[in-house]
Amino acid sequence: MDITRRKHSEKNKRIRKELKDKIFDKLGNACTICKNIDPDVLQIDHIRGKGYEEMKIFGGNSLSYYRHVLKHLNENKYQLLCANCNWKKRVINNEKYSKY
Ligand SMILES: [Zn+2]
Repeated sequence: MDITRRKHSEKNKRIRKELKDKIFDKLGNACTICKNIDPDVLQIDHIRGKGYEEMKIFGGNSLSYYRHVLKHLNENKYQLLCANCNWKKRVINNEKYSKY
């Protein structure tokens, strides 16, 4: 990777962190379910389970995704979940949908 590219990606990383911090702040900096406050395990969760689809629209570009989330934060579509609770929510939802 050349220097220009590296500088560019470092700048993106910083912006990404700022956006993420802003979103986390607005969502209360804690897991909605178990109140875990460890920022390393907290994830932005789409309440109606559309997070993966939305992420796909942005082609895995977290910077655009964060901007999108920030713009729609006041619609109550998002919450913070820790990795555990997020995983658990996914398992429960999958079970529900895979049963006939
Ligand atoms: Zn949790």
